[in-house]
Amino acid sequence: SGRIVLAGTPIGNLEDAPPRLRRALEEADIVAAEDTRRLHQLVSALGLTLSGKPVAYHEHNEASRAAELVDHAAEGADVVIVSDAGMPTISDPGFRVVEEAALRGVDVSVIPGPSAALVALAGSGLPTDRFTFEGFLPRKPGERRERLAELRDERRTMVFYEAPHRIDATLEALVEGFGAGRRAVLARELTKLYEEFRRGTLGDLLAGVQEVPPRGEIVLVVAGGEAPAAANPEELVAEVQQVVDSGL
Ligand code: SAM
Repeated sequence: SGRIVLAGTPIGNLEDAPPRLRRALEEADIVAAEDTRRLHQLVSALGLTLSGKPVAYHEHNEASRAAELVDHAAEGADVVIVSDAGMPTISDPGFRVVEEAALRGVDVSVIPGPSAALVALAGSGLPTDRFTFEGFLPRKPGERRERLAELRDERRTMVFYEAPHRIDATLEALVEGFGAGRRAVLARELTKLYEEFRRGTLGDLLAGVQEVPPRGEIVLVVAGGEAPAAANPEELVAEVQQVVDSGL
């Protein structure tokens, strides 16, 4: 029977295309791509030929396309889903298709590939034991401030995606939200020729982008906040005593 196959694609370096991706693209009955032009570029750069039918799906038609794609899989087709780069569903379309397939009991399989978030986090040198993926911050200043206020007490490392023309404004908002001294890493052009990790504080990174505006694709990795200072032991004893005295 058919299935939905979510396939990760390289985020810049074609050598990151695994054999499973190549085979899945060549053998798929249908390849659903965010942008079919980009799909054709990828397929030809990898030296492959599609035997299946390319179809476009994106943010705006995802809900209606999801049902159609799952119908095809339910009827026996192998439907491969790719996005422009990296893992589908991660700040990219694909989620609706998986949701629909799961609801209808259609098999879903994932061919793992790179995702800029994990590549940046792993190379950041900031704690990786716990982290939160925040994707793109809202563009409207009010909503962005609100989101950052929600993250004020976040202790886990935070991963943000951003476009180069908004990096300046975003770093300013992060400085305002978390303070200039918070450790952070700007990871740029990952897996590509000009891959770069700029490490420092949010204040350093802001000064850096104001001096040399970064080009290309960017992930910001921001350290979580420090734990609040431990309560004073005498106060703790007094609190426990109060509970004991109250007879609870
Ligand atoms: N699905 C993709 C993934 O798994 O990484 C993310 C898609 S999202 C629309 C695009 C954003 O991912 C960019 O704005 C940038 O923040 C980040 N990104 C993608 N490729 C990158 C790269 N090679 N270097 C740095 N950031 C990258």
